Amino acid sequence: MKLSRRDFVKSSLFLGSSFLLSPGFTLAGQKKEEKWIPAYEKLEMEGRLAERVKQAYAIFENCQLCPRKCGVNRKKGEKGFCRAPVKPIIFSYHPHFGEEVSVVGGRGSGTIFFSNCNLRCVFCQNWPIAHEGRGKEVQDEDLADMMLHLQMIGCHNVNLVTPTHVMPNILNATRIALKKGLHLPLFYNTSGYERLEILKTLDGIVDIYKPDMKYMDSEQAVKYSTGASDYPEVAKKAVLEMQRQVGVHKVDHQGIAIRGLMIRHLVMPNRVAGTEKFVKWVAEALPKNTYVNIMAQYRVEYKAYDYPEIARGITEQEFLEAMDWAKKYGLTNLDPQSVALRNFYHHRRSN
Ligand code: SF4
Repeated sequence: MKLSRRDFVKSSLFLGSSFLLSPGFTLAGQKKEEKWIPAYEKLEMEGRLAERVKQAYAIFENCQLCPRKCGVNRKKGEKGFCRAPVKPIIFSYHPHFGEEVSVVGGRGSGTIFFSNCNLRCVFCQNWPIAHEGRGKEVQDEDLADMMLHLQMIGCHNVNLVTPTHVMPNILNATRIALKKGLHLPLFYNTSGYERLEILKTLDGIVDIYKPDMKYMDSEQAVKYSTGASDYPEVAKKAVLEMQRQVGVHKVDHQGIAIRGLMIRHLVMPNRVAGTEKFVKWVAEALPKNTYVNIMAQYRVEYKAYDYPEIARGITEQEFLEAMDWAKKYGLTNLDPQSVALRNFYHHRRSN
């Protein structure tokens, strides 16, 4: 039986075929796509990446890497709010299939989980890693090798989870890995608690930003994220800067993310996350086709049991009202899994 091209692509995707999902792969006879180059590779070609690594490393001497601005000298072993040493601590690195579809593709997102965190939320779902700092201290060269390993086994990107407090190590490791052949999108997966000045150091290095926008009110940020009263204003400015740097979410001809901004917002019980304000702000401040993932998977973790208003999962109604607000304010690029869940709930209600 002769297979149509669509059938061929479909079956190959199903089988997780590696070559079909490689950025830059083209079918015979098809117009060749412009060769994709990671942002950091272009910066290196311009001779500017080494200087950025140097600038970033200097910040460790008076650590202002995040809005906590502790001012400690991490090179001398002093520790600030995040409790992170000067070397990165890594909990794990592996292909991850729990991210957005365009990031996961057929072979997974090459995820590196960094230990410690500069935000420390009471409902943290990774608390043994983020709060207790479990993991192994490594050299930047080891981190570079992990990036290359993830590339070798076919992952679609290097997904840096909680990168803020180890940004200088990441930059150094990326440059080391680049010299050994790294050619994957660099994916900055952050809580959104980022300083504008620090993000400017990442301009032309990061390909994909995925910030959270956790709350829109200072009161909630103070209560649930260890006194981070400036979180809403800081996160808004950070997201605008990320958008300026990388633009809206872009995929290659196989649907794999190669550049752009993807915002995550976790719906919380009792409207704690300020979801209506969040979607309204996105619709007014960013392009309407900004990729937004409105997530339904809040679960009670860590110290959330001590706060009655967040000591339960969200209801179907709470998720549906969040999706309705996104529609009302005109967002046009919602995560397909969220849309599928909304449609499923609607379908169930109508039967
Ligand atoms: S990265 Fe850590 S030490 Fe540096 S300012 Fe932030 S919380 Fe403080």
